[in-house]
Amino acid sequence: MSLSPQLVLKDVFGYPEFRGQQQSIIEAALQGRDSLVIMPTGGGKSLCYQIPAMLREGTGLVVSPLIALMQDQVTALREVGIAAEFLNSSQSPDERREVMNKLRQGKLQLLYIAPERLVTGHTRSLLRDVPLSIIAIDEAHCVSQWGHDFRQDYLGLGDLGALFPGVPRMAVTATATGKTRQEIVTRLELHEPDIFVAPFDRPNIGYTVQVKTDARGQLLKFLQTHRDEAGIVYCLSRKKTESIATWLCGQGFEALPYHAGLAADVRAENQRRFLAEDGLVIVATIAFGMGIDKPDVRFVAHLDLPKSVESYYQETGRAGRDGEPADAWMVYGLQDVVRLRQMLDESQADEEYKRYEGAKIDALLGWCEVIGCRRRPLLAYFGDSQNEDCGNCDGCLTPANTWDGSEAGQKLLSAVYRTEQRFGAAHLVDVLLGKKTDKVQQHGHEQLSVFGIGKDLPSTTWRSVARQLIVAGHLRSDAARFGALVLTETSRGVLRGETPLQFREDPKRSVVSSKKVAAIRVVGEQDESLWEALRACRQSLASEHNVPAYVIFHDKTLHEMLAYRPQTASDMLGISGIGQTKLDRYGDRFLSVLRGEPAA
Ligand code: ADP
Ligand code: ZN
Repeated sequence: MSLSPQLVLKDVFGYPEFRGQQQSIIEAALQGRDSLVIMPTGGGKSLCYQIPAMLREGTGLVVSPLIALMQDQVTALREVGIAAEFLNSSQSPDERREVMNKLRQGKLQLLYIAPERLVTGHTRSLLRDVPLSIIAIDEAHCVSQWGHDFRQDYLGLGDLGALFPGVPRMAVTATATGKTRQEIVTRLELHEPDIFVAPFDRPNIGYTVQVKTDARGQLLKFLQTHRDEAGIVYCLSRKKTESIATWLCGQGFEALPYHAGLAADVRAENQRRFLAEDGLVIVATIAFGMGIDKPDVRFVAHLDLPKSVESYYQETGRAGRDGEPADAWMVYGLQDVVRLRQMLDESQADEEYKRYEGAKIDALLGWCEVIGCRRRPLLAYFGDSQNEDCGNCDGCLTPANTWDGSEAGQKLLSAVYRTEQRFGAAHLVDVLLGKKTDKVQQHGHEQLSVFGIGKDLPSTTWRSVARQLIVAGHLRSDAARFGALVLTETSRGVLRGETPLQFREDPKRSVVSSKKVAAIRVVGEQDESLWEALRACRQSLASEHNVPAYVIFHDKTLHEMLAYRPQTASDMLGISGIGQTKLDRYGDRFLSVLRGEPAA
């Protein structure tokens, strides 16, 4: 075997060096060992099994739960000249037979396969006659019965080790906290696996979280910094994705909705356009995303709170996979928490699960209300500690002030107590502000001693006090009482003045860091026309080859061309993302553009 991993990386994929632990992971597989690889989205997991698949004898098998993801990967692999195919339910029996023939004849370097296919006896007996180089199990957390992505078929993958002795297996995932990690190893029956946990930080993503005041206005302001860029806006309900998409179109954006209730062909078409074009906004429920590995998503915006820190991190992780600056932006309010809790309560799940999920909602709310750098607690949540503030989040860029909230906390908790723990934040705030609303009068609350005792603070501050009391555990939103705020064991300490409270002041301005804006606009004015010409060249090649633009070249590759102005084929090979196959296919076209020759 004369080829080395480095050579394949350079020649085939066109990348100068490995990232993070990629090389060690590849080495482990080359030595025939099982491994568990935990790497955040965009970290570069695919190469870890693709390269061993090319270097070891036989076909590499990749178990992947999502058809869209498989197709994407196979398209990208073929673009760099690798013999790859997939087997899934989107194919006709004839197409599948053809793939199986190629497999039997040893013509495939990589075969992507859906888990439900791999558990059938037919596929298994076919595979037993074929030498396998590696078995990669993508999205391995789907084996965890605790997770949201649990898939029954994954449980059938445990015996692959016994079935294919001597073939290294690699379980790969972006989400696996301690418990899930153990579950993956056990259920997939990995044999003494090497465990690789990559740092979770995504330094190119800037985090901003705002209190929801005027969600649409806030979104619009944020999107001004992302005109003509691809991004995802997440909403909780299907209806909302449609109304927001329509509204964004009215505001001059190209936006499309995506949710599980749309007809399958509409969904597929909207997804296809999002992948293929580089300036489209998709407004989606969480049905959209898993398996979307479009590298040039420049922002992920949340108009509603996701249900956990894990979901938030996974969803925002879809931004900036190419390593270029990207934004994760979110607005949230107490109403979001109440709604999530109600949804949880109405679900069929058992009590233990509800408690577990309830705690996750609280953890996310707690993170939203954090004082100081946002990235540090986010990483700490995943067991990845960092000692320095990041300088690329709202907490760092516009630090929130704090104030002594002990008295305000007491007032609000008293109002909860006096109104018999039966009301939500909106009513409590009315009582504190001394508003004689219908509801106040109906319950005689204008007679209470707490009526009007909070006139010194505006209602936005009172809402913030309520959220922070929840975060600190002094108040709880009770789903059984329709989201009413109720006291907890620690409320008494606050009421007696024994527990001092420091609150965070909600920042008044929305922040978009000048640093980030500068980083996004890396293309200087005099380069603008060349940049547009390179993009146009990429777009026309993409249309000719019927693939998304980023499959031709990533933004990063075009940026390097712009910066280094390669003039010859060998200059081109020095650019990140250009290997021999892509040079042969596209090199000349881009060289003409770089030389300023008129388009052919
Ligand atoms: P994920 O971990 O989410 O599966 P991918 O494997 O899709 O991530 O990789 C994300 C992007 O990073 C891809 O476009 C891939 O080509 C690129 N990439 C992976 N490894 C390297 C590397 N060593 N150098 C440069 N780019 C890389
Ligand atoms: Zn920070």
